Amino acid sequence: MNGGLAPVDSRDLHHRTLLRYGLDHPNTLPLAEILSSWQAGFGVMPDWLGLGEAEFDRLHRYHFGPATSLRASPWQSRLDSRLDDLRDDLRRLLLLHARDETPSTAWIADILVTACQGSDHLWQDLGLWNRASLSRLLHWNFPALAARNTRDMKWKKFLFKQLCETEGIYICRAPSCEACCDFDDCFGPE
Ligand code: SF4
Repeated sequence: MNGGLAPVDSRDLHHRTLLRYGLDHPNTLPLAEILSSWQAGFGVMPDWLGLGEAEFDRLHRYHFGPATSLRASPWQSRLDSRLDDLRDDLRRLLLLHARDETPSTAWIADILVTACQGSDHLWQDLGLWNRASLSRLLHWNFPALAARNTRDMKWKKFLFKQLCETEGIYICRAPSCEACCDFDDCFGPE
């Protein structure tokens, strides 16, 4: 899969190749990071980023042109199946705040929902290269939702907190952050 390259070199090679054909679109750069990390084994994204092969193919052709050397990955699933029940609610929350109804925004929503089942920071589970890249991705695709994160909460915790507040799904163990013993897990550097 990696052709003998170290994972980070494999990731960089995929990244350069993808961007050679990349569409001029705000989602192209973060998707190139996500795809190249997935191929190199970083993050938690499953085969075809969880989109299924046909939809992944559409994403690839739209953002990066038809030519691809990307393959189904050999990595074992690193998703927490206990969060399967939250997928529909989280997807609905994201799409309710989507900037538009384009396929690109819907792909980003699906990819985010899957990455939320990882156990690390959301930007790391996605395979993005830093948190700033995730912040830009969220503000571009879901501006009204992202703007609510006025206290710079960790993004995965923030999304789960939105489910608590808007969907009545109680993941949090306290009614307010100030009274919660998990405060340090939800705020601070990520
Ligand atoms: S600090 Fe507690 S109440 Fe606030 S989002 Fe985190 S888990 Fe929920």
